Amino acid sequence: MDFDFSPEELAFQKEVESFLAANASPEVMDPNPEQLSQTVDTPAKRAFMRKLAERGWLGMSWPRRYGGQEKSGIYDFLLTEALSRWGAPQPGKGVGIVGKTIIRHGNEKLKDYFLPRIIRGEIEFAIGYSEPQAGSDAANMQLRAVKVEGGWKLDGRKIWTTSAHFADWYWVGARTDTSHKHKGITLFLVEMDHPGLTIHPTMTIGDERTNEVFFDDVFVSDDFVVGEVNRGWTYICEALDLERFAMMPVGPLEKKVEALVGWAREATRDGGPVRASAAARRTVAQAVTQLEVARMLQRRVIGEALTERVPTVESSQYKLFMNELGQRVANAALDLIGPEAQLKPACPDAPLGGRFERSYRYTVVDTIGGGTSEIQKNIIARRGLGLPPSY
Ligand SMILES: Cc1cc2nc3c(=O)[nH]c(=O)nc-3n(C[C@H](O)[C@H](O)[C@H](O)COP(=O)(O)OP(=O)(O)OC[C@H]3O[C@@H](n4cnc5c(N)ncnc54)[C@H](O)[C@@H]3O)c2cc1C
Repeated sequence: MDFDFSPEELAFQKEVESFLAANASPEVMDPNPEQLSQTVDTPAKRAFMRKLAERGWLGMSWPRRYGGQEKSGIYDFLLTEALSRWGAPQPGKGVGIVGKTIIRHGNEKLKDYFLPRIIRGEIEFAIGYSEPQAGSDAANMQLRAVKVEGGWKLDGRKIWTTSAHFADWYWVGARTDTSHKHKGITLFLVEMDHPGLTIHPTMTIGDERTNEVFFDDVFVSDDFVVGEVNRGWTYICEALDLERFAMMPVGPLEKKVEALVGWAREATRDGGPVRASAAARRTVAQAVTQLEVARMLQRRVIGEALTERVPTVESSQYKLFMNELGQRVANAALDLIGPEAQLKPACPDAPLGGRFERSYRYTVVDTIGGGTSEIQKNIIARRGLGLPPSY
């Protein structure tokens, strides 16, 4: 398998890096990025997204008739990775999840309305699958959609909807048939400023905001049904496979490993260099090696995605390994740096700006969002190894 990039791809990578260096700004970028650290919206971030659009960098792999350039998905990957390393906003939800699903399954009206706006970087989406009794078992969602003249009325409750407090549109799964679990779900697009929606914040252990959303008689026109009624679960499964890879770049982890190696090279303890300690050398050598494994698993997912196959098992293997490695690196950093690594980022004496204290909390969340580690293992066991479901 050839893991090298072509000269054109390397030139694009260089162009993106130059753009990011020229547009580096604390208003837009988090110097210590974490996986999901895109939960704040500002005019500067929106303007940044439009700059990406002006360069033609949104939806590069989409078909030309939808405004894309029919480039290899490698270009989307190179862009996302560079943005994630710089802690910049990423177009993953709109371009990678909603846009790709609409291209595959959406009606012409949805294509005409959403695809140009996504590619111009004009809209933000929130994704609503989870409910109190439907997390890992997302197909158990009960938010009810009842057919009415010209559309549907939605009533119920979603939880854990990241970005609901600033998104423009809500990509929502709802129950349209109570007699079938998996074949009774339909996907809708709902305007986030609908008066029937009420949004409450939920703060996570990683200091990020996610949301609980209540639906009270929310009317959605038939035009905003995605694909066929009662086939939503199929589309959600495809979109989740895309999410595990489009929303999970390795860049934030690379930066953390680099920071840890940099610390081990420079730091002193008890009058001597930390780098002389066998334990320190083992820790960073292990982290660097496992990071390389994560990169290779990610390349395999991309390889599969480039063949137009939705990479289910490969995505789960990558998400499982990468998220758990994030936790191992944070744990190792706290052990290696010592008690002062527990100082919070706001503390001036915190080593490396307190990034591993934050990371220690944050990486717990990574192993839950987009499907927990246990669920990834179930997918690998069932779909990858053909083992029976657990009881
Ligand atoms: C920060 C954050 C952001 C999120 N953003 C969104 C979002 O934008 N949109 C959205 O729809 N959802 C979102 N989620 C929800 C996320 O997808 C769910 O939290 C996740 O799927 C787990 O569901 P749950 O929390 O209900 O846990 P549960 O499903 O109740 O699971 C509890 C525990 O049981 C384990 N478990 C459950 N079933 C099995 C099984 N069959 N085999 C083995 N172990 C099992 C789980 O691994 C977990 O450890 C977000 C979650 C977080 C934490």
